[in-house]
Amino acid sequence: MKNFFIKVFKEIAATIILFSGIPVLIRFFIAKKKVTIVLYHNPTVQTFEKHLIYLKKKYNLIELKDLTDSIYNNTWANIPKFPLLITFDDGHKSNFKLIKLFKKYKVKPTIYLCTKIVSTLKFFWFKIIDDENKEFLKTITQNKREKILKEKFNFTKDDKGHTFQRQSLSRNEIKKMIKYVNFESHSRYHAILPKCSNKESLEEIRKSKYDLKKLLNKEFNHFSFPNGDYSNREIKYLRKLGYLTSRTCDIGWNYLNTNPFLLKTCLITDSASITMLKAQISGVTGFLRYFKNFGTLNGQKK
Ligand SMILES: [Zn+2]
Repeated sequence: MKNFFIKVFKEIAATIILFSGIPVLIRFFIAKKKVTIVLYHNPTVQTFEKHLIYLKKKYNLIELKDLTDSIYNNTWANIPKFPLLITFDDGHKSNFKLIKLFKKYKVKPTIYLCTKIVSTLKFFWFKIIDDENKEFLKTITQNKREKILKEKFNFTKDDKGHTFQRQSLSRNEIKKMIKYVNFESHSRYHAILPKCSNKESLEEIRKSKYDLKKLLNKEFNHFSFPNGDYSNREIKYLRKLGYLTSRTCDIGWNYLNTNPFLLKTCLITDSASITMLKAQISGVTGFLRYFKNFGTLNGQKK
């Protein structure tokens, strides 16, 4: 019941945001020229199709390569008006069901994979615990987090589950999707990188590139920060290892002067109504989140 009222409150707030006129102003003064990157995790086919219909009507969908080339070549000539890039984080199992929509709507999104979780039966650590513990475990060192996960939740990162509990995309699914999706790295185990030692952080970034190459036999040069968390150290590692871009969860839009290692995003709730999608894509809910957990609960930033 409590959740129901929270949902109703958020819908009302989203409606007020739309009526304020701010999203329209943002759309015409910012999103017309700059690239909007939307971030999903695990939407259903039904919801994602509704979103795609809206997005296709209002934006021109581009690929990560279009944005990367434009920033590195310092030209916006190949970017259409109202450019938008769709991204997904983690590599959840149900992403496979979206393939029919990628084909139908001719969209090539980027899915950032946790390379030691996908194509295995291993679990995402943040999916085996409740939200409260999850938020706490994001704030402590990797070492301490792994210790608590083991002692309190009987979980270690290389534990194997059963086929019926599979959480991530399988090797076969990834291979079937490769024509319709750009796969890139989201670390190996979804580490909270600034909470890692130098060695741990470097390995998550370096070896995930290697894992992807081994899995799909091509070079991968893009990264998204698990939970959106990064420090200057991670950016230094990414540059050193030959990555070209990294996507944050920082709110904003992307243009010629955007640091390619700090690509900005609008976080979309997987189950968002179209009203909420419009409010979230305007960035307003994201800014409000800095003050209060509105629209996109912290727990949804994975
Ligand atoms: Zn994630």
